[in-house]
Amino acid sequence: AKQQGRNTYQLYTEDLDSTLSQRVSLRSELQEAIEHGHLSLHYQPLLDREGQVDGLEALVRWHHPSKGLISPATFIPMAEETGQIIPLSRWVMRQASKDAHQLVKQGLLNKRMAINLSPLQFHRPNFLSTLRSVLSETGLAPEHLELELTEGILMHDTDGAIDILNALNGMQISTSIDDFGTGFSSLSYLRDLPVDKIKIDRSFVQRAIKSDKNAAICQGIITLAQKLDLRVVAEGIETPEQYDYLMSLGCDVFQGYLFAKPMPLDSLTTWLMQRER
Ligand code: C2E
Ligand code: CA
Ligand code: CA
Ligand code: CA
Repeated sequence: AKQQGRNTYQLYTEDLDSTLSQRVSLRSELQEAIEHGHLSLHYQPLLDREGQVDGLEALVRWHHPSKGLISPATFIPMAEETGQIIPLSRWVMRQASKDAHQLVKQGLLNKRMAINLSPLQFHRPNFLSTLRSVLSETGLAPEHLELELTEGILMHDTDGAIDILNALNGMQISTSIDDFGTGFSSLSYLRDLPVDKIKIDRSFVQRAIKSDKNAAICQGIITLAQKLDLRVVAEGIETPEQYDYLMSLGCDVFQGYLFAKPMPLDSLTTWLMQRER
């Protein structure tokens, strides 16, 4: 609301006040949630061109005592501002690694568990050592871990980011660029960044069959990725038409409600076991 400018300030004073106090309480409530385990993870499967599970993505959920389920789209940006993203991310990383290790042991996961990273987390000096200790504590092999980064993370300090990406490569941890296409960044950076995958943002995926411009963007991203030897994920696939179209463009991996919604570990386990048969 701060950025809305002088003219609208009068009008929004009341809203602004309530928003501020709401934010202060939400912040301390999030602190409690982190400390008392009111967070949980849902997992969404990704599928390859043959329909086989190509990995899972961990997505955090906050079960608020009175407000119910709060979307990460609301509290992740807030946690990023307050710094709470650091303990929150550490919890996510540990829990997702633990669950992934369990699935691997059960023979239900032979690909990777993907975790979303926040900029603050990625650029902390102890990021790699934290990651190593989480892997050794949970027993998850790095070959089963993938990290999703946003363009913003990689643009912030590109040289620093390249060093970290090289270290991750050396550890056999794979990386992908999330929400690809939304970041206004130059495409040439793809040449310099040692990543394995890009995930086309669902805003392009979902509009690809409705608008020629979005179709062109998807085509362009896929062609570029193929030339650079990167795998391409289409996220947010909701209809068979979207699936068919992105399949025809040559996407490697598919994710969306059409196949499976994000689900808690027990439902995911059932889902994976049923596919085994
Ligand atoms: P994201 O990384 O782009 O994750 C994909 C989002 O799209 C998820 O929303 C997922 O539930 C949703 N989605 C998947 N398939 C479909 C579909 O077919 N249709 C539609 N409409 N949506 C679909 P979610 O779980 O609400 O997460 C929102 C965002 O919050 C994530 O976007 C990510 O940026 C952030 N986030 C979630 N968990 C974490 C986390 O553990 N750490 C960090 N740093 N960020 C997280
Ligand atoms: Ca993601
Ligand atoms: Ca995404
Ligand atoms: Ca590769």
